[in-house]
Amino acid sequence: MFCDFHTHRPGKNALVSAEKMPEHIPYWSFQIHPWDLPEKFVFPEPGFFDSLSSAAALGEIGLDRLKGPSLEVQRKYLDFFLETAEARQLAVVIHCVRCDAELDAALKNFSGKVLIHGFRGGEKRLLNHLEKGRFVSFAPGGWKHCPETLRENGLRNIGLETDDALLDIKEVYEQAEAETKIAGWESICADNFLRFTGGK
Ligand SMILES: [Zn+2]
Repeated sequence: MFCDFHTHRPGKNALVSAEKMPEHIPYWSFQIHPWDLPEKFVFPEPGFFDSLSSAAALGEIGLDRLKGPSLEVQRKYLDFFLETAEARQLAVVIHCVRCDAELDAALKNFSGKVLIHGFRGGEKRLLNHLEKGRFVSFAPGGWKHCPETLRENGLRNIGLETDDALLDIKEVYEQAEAETKIAGWESICADNFLRFTGGK
């Protein structure tokens, strides 16, 4: 089972991020992308809470230094989303671009499951996420920046994703296994996927 930890296209063994519940898929994540946030914080409509009841996770949500409204507004939303997820015991899928310190601060009091998607950081950053019990998912090539940590820590809490690329997730697994020379991506990541989504 080749699990896709983050995609925007419907699929069976995939966590699909969307703004509306897609039909006939087991796992979906309710997305409010930081790029799409308004310029000022407004309390979400009641429909927001309805959507959450069928979702396996909230996200992608997060922080982006290069795109979207001011970081202050993004942080307000993120804090609100994390509080909501915490109260409902929902996992979150995080988009983070150049906001590592701000993300750590926001997640400080969050006790639910966290998936850092599209990770492209280095050894130190990956280790920091794993030590905090977070899940981390790579798009193709993302694993190249942290070979040591992957070798030493193994693949627990690690995943792979296609995001919005038109790729077959199986090929991403084959590429990861060939380039990292670590065995067992498929089975270990499948176990990680079921732990993150709660399994269905
Ligand atoms: Zn995405």
